[in-house]
Amino acid sequence: MSQTHETVLEIDLDALAHNYEFLTSKLHPDTKVMGVVKAFGYGSDACEVAKELASLGVDYFAVAYVKEGIALRDAGITQPILVLHPQPVHFESLIDRCLEPALYSARILRSFVAVAEGKKQQDYPVHIKFNTGLNRLGFWESDTEWIVERLAETQSIKIKSLFSHLAASEDMNEREFTLGQIANFKNIASDMAERLGYRPMLHQSNTSAILNYPEAQFDMVRTGIGLYGYGNSEAYDANLKPVVHLKSIISQIHTIEPGETVGYNRAYKATHFAKTATLPIGHADGISRNLGNGVGKVVINGHSVPIIGNVCMDMLMVDITGIDCKEGDEVIIIGSQQNASDLAESMGSISYELLTAISQRVKRVVRRKPKR
Ligand SMILES: *Cc1c(COP(=O)(O)O)cnc(C)c1O
Repeated sequence: MSQTHETVLEIDLDALAHNYEFLTSKLHPDTKVMGVVKAFGYGSDACEVAKELASLGVDYFAVAYVKEGIALRDAGITQPILVLHPQPVHFESLIDRCLEPALYSARILRSFVAVAEGKKQQDYPVHIKFNTGLNRLGFWESDTEWIVERLAETQSIKIKSLFSHLAASEDMNEREFTLGQIANFKNIASDMAERLGYRPMLHQSNTSAILNYPEAQFDMVRTGIGLYGYGNSEAYDANLKPVVHLKSIISQIHTIEPGETVGYNRAYKATHFAKTATLPIGHADGISRNLGNGVGKVVINGHSVPIIGNVCMDMLMVDITGIDCKEGDEVIIIGSQQNASDLAESMGSISYELLTAISQRVKRVVRRKPKR
């Protein structure tokens, strides 16, 4: 990848293709893939990622909110799109743009049916979400009869899939709990199939479940973080390639004397003749203040150097004492030497949070090797 002249987030589509191939190599031949591109494609660029995944053969997309699905449609995505957490106020536009809602409660199901009937829909595809232990969204196992009765009263919707979400598929200490969620989902699925007289598609696995619970793939898997290069464990990370690289440059270098301070609240005090570099990236770009005061590091010419003082809104400072570098040199914040999990871990967080925090102010640059 090339030298940058400002703060950029590079999106490596070859890495995305590599991760897609790796994840699909773990699937049974008939298992479909839903690419999860919510939250701007985990902070990258949902439309660029979705277009690439569509060309690789992904079957389905998932987003969290209707607005995110509309952005995909505007970018020309024609695959079916599941909206995981739609709000009734957007049901009309959801139908207008052929997005498919997850219906997770009686309130949501009733209000979707009302809108679908109002818009004269027939057999509009919907996905019923069941709660099997995450206790976040979803109907309970005991709701199956009620759901099927409501469906019998309307021609407007048809169940395309039943799904559930695992609470701890990355945590092998919770294996027993996860197996319980899988068994519970199987019971719900067969109960529903019996009541409906047909069998909708089933899906329960996120990235870590693809890797840790091959027996739970059902008809489709929903993969997010793995596509972006993270597998929630060092062993899996080794098979995946980070899709985004966050780069910046050195704006200015200062040499300060012992006792001098750097940044707001004078939070860093030099104990030696220190050389410091100021970078054009701050908490408004997604670099948390929790990474200040030596917690987080960046990479300059192969050297890992600490962030010093408090992270500012638009800038941060690093200690480059003894490091060979000059103004204008490239700085790697997320890359191969330090990936998003490494940096997130230093502040007690996870790759998901760090990646999705990279703000829209940061310029996105798509990279791909020329095709032969
Ligand atoms: C975000 C999300 C996923 C993707 O999870 P990953 O761990 O990123 O693979 C799958 N299913 C649901 C319901 C989600 O909200």
